[in-house]
Amino acid sequence: MFTAYRAATALVDTAAAEHQYLTAARNAIKAGKDGLILHMECPECDRVPSGRDGDPHVTVMTTSGFPVVVIGCEGYWVVNPAAVGVGHLAPNWEA
Ligand SMILES: [Zn+2]
Repeated sequence: MFTAYRAATALVDTAAAEHQYLTAARNAIKAGKDGLILHMECPECDRVPSGRDGDPHVTVMTTSGFPVVVIGCEGYWVVNPAAVGVGHLAPNWEA
């Protein structure tokens, strides 16, 4: 079982902010950045995303070739935004 990290309500809760977060998280994960806490299971439903069309989870493939959850099925940001350089987008994000 993975520790459930989740974002508190983001101050800047817009599609643009989510896009910036997703881009930053994807780049950090693809680069194999050290120190990231990654989840193969969604902290919100404790499931491994199916990867099928219509699955609400947003995942990114790691350099090791397994998918990790970046945005959970309820829309929370799963990877610490500060750890991928965009902490200003979600100052209330907490573990
Ligand atoms: Zn989920």
